[in-house]
Amino acid sequence: MDFEFSPRAQDYLKRVKAFIRTEIEPVEPAFWTEVMTSCQSPDWKTWTVPVVLDELKRKAREQGLWNLFLPDPVLGAGLGAQEYAPIAEETGRSLLAATVFNCNAPDSGNMEVLWRYGSEEQQEKWLKPLLAGEIRSVFCMTEPDVASSDATNMQATAIIEGDEIVLNGDKWWSSGIGDPHAKIAIFMAHTPDGSKDRHHQHSMVLVPLDTPGVTIERMLPVFGEFDAPHGHGQVSFNNVRVPVSHFISGPGMGFEIAQGRLGPGRIHHCMRCIGAAEKALDLTIQRGMSRTAFGKPILNLGGNRERIAEARIAIDQARLLTLYAAWKMDKVGAMGAMSEISAIKVAAPNMLQQVVDMAIQLHGGAGLTRDLPLTGFFIQARSLRLADGPDEVHKGVITRIELMKRGFMDKK
Ligand SMILES: Cc1cc2nc3c(=O)[nH]c(=O)nc-3n(C[C@H](O)[C@H](O)[C@H](O)COP(=O)(O)OP(=O)(O)OC[C@H]3O[C@@H](n4cnc5c(N)ncnc54)[C@H](O)[C@@H]3O)c2cc1C
Repeated sequence: MDFEFSPRAQDYLKRVKAFIRTEIEPVEPAFWTEVMTSCQSPDWKTWTVPVVLDELKRKAREQGLWNLFLPDPVLGAGLGAQEYAPIAEETGRSLLAATVFNCNAPDSGNMEVLWRYGSEEQQEKWLKPLLAGEIRSVFCMTEPDVASSDATNMQATAIIEGDEIVLNGDKWWSSGIGDPHAKIAIFMAHTPDGSKDRHHQHSMVLVPLDTPGVTIERMLPVFGEFDAPHGHGQVSFNNVRVPVSHFISGPGMGFEIAQGRLGPGRIHHCMRCIGAAEKALDLTIQRGMSRTAFGKPILNLGGNRERIAEARIAIDQARLLTLYAAWKMDKVGAMGAMSEISAIKVAAPNMLQQVVDMAIQLHGGAGLTRDLPLTGFFIQARSLRLADGPDEVHKGVITRIELMKRGFMDKK
C-alpha cells in the first residue's frame, strides 16, 4: 500500500492550509467569543450564527474549497477516502474549518446518504441546498428511552398508511438541530414487516423540521455547554405525516444506508481528531518552551519532554491506522473495511483525549479557558468515544471479525 498523497490531494491540501492560516485563524477567536455571548441561552430560538461564517463560506466556495468530502467529481471534489484524509486532518486543527468548507458532520454524512441513496426528487429538494451550504440537516437515530448503541432497540416507528408515512417517537442527541438554518431531518425508525429479517425492519425517512408534530423539546448541554450555534437537541415526533416518497431508498433500508453513511464519516471524524491532536501538540510545545518555572522552560521540567515524544508516537500511530482504513475502504468498500474502521474509531478519539489532557496540564489554568481550542478538542474527543458507536461496540465488531476469521461464529 502507498500512502503518498495524489497530486490533486496535495494541491487541495496546500490551498486548504493557506485558507485556514490566512482567512480562518485570524477571525476564529472572535467567532467563538461572539457565539459565547449570543448563544448561551438554553432557548435555541434566540441563537444566531456570526455573519463572518457566511463570508468565509462564500470565499471558500469561490476558491473551489467546497464539499471536499464528496467523492462525486461534479458535485464534490471527487477525492477518494485516502486522498481526502489529509485534508480532513488539516481542517481538524480548527473547530470552525470543516463548517467553512461545507465538510462538517452531520451534514457531510447526510449529503452522502442523499447522494448515494436519494431519489432525483429528494436530491433536487434537499441535496442541492445542502451542497450549496444554504441549509443544515440533522440525523435522528438515538433515543432517550433505549440503549441506542444497539440500533435494533429502536422504538420510534415509521408506519405506512395509504400514501403517507406516520412517524412517532422520541429522539435525542440530534446534532445541529439548534442551528437557525436546520431545515431537514433524516429520521430512523422501525417499520415492522414480518416478511423481512430483523436487519430490514428499519427505515430512513426525510422529515422537514417544520412538519406539524415535530417538536424540539430542549437542547442538551455537553459538559455544560450547548455546542452552539449548532446544538444537540431532544426532539419528539408525534403523529408526523409525510408522503411515502420521503422514504430514502424505500422502507426497510435503514441499516444498509446507516452502514454506508457511517464508514466514510468515521474516517473523517478520526482524521479531524488527528489534526486536533497536532494542533494541541503545537500549542504545548510553544507554551512549554516560552514559559519558565523553577528556572527552566516548563517543557524541560519533570517528565514533560517524554510526554511530547509519547504524543508524537500516539498521533503517528493513529494517523497510519486511519490512512490504512481509508486505503482499505477505497479498495474494498466500507463493509470490507469494517474492522479497520472500528479500530480507528476507538484509536483516534482515545489518542486525542490523551494528547489534549496532556496539553491542558502543560498549559496550567490557561488550558481550561476558551482562549485556546483545547477544551473544545477535549469535548470532541470525549463525545466521539460515544457518538457513532461507543468504544465497546467497536471493539465487539473487531473481536467478532477476528473470531469469524478463525471459524467461530458469534451467537447473538
Ligand atoms: C456529542 C454527541 C453528539 C451526537 N450526535 C448524534 C446525532 O447527531 N444523531 C444521533 O442519532 N445520535 C447522536 N449521538 C448519540 C450517540 O450516537 C449515542 O450516544 C451512542 O450511540 C450510544 O447510545 P446511548 O447513548 O443510548 O448509550 P447506551 O446504548 O445506553 O450505552 C451506554 C454504554 O453501555 C456500554 N455498552 C454498550 N454496548 C456495549 C457492548 N456491546 N459491550 C460493552 N459495553 C457496552 C458502553 O460503555 C456505552 O457507552 C451523539 C452523542 C453525543 C455525545
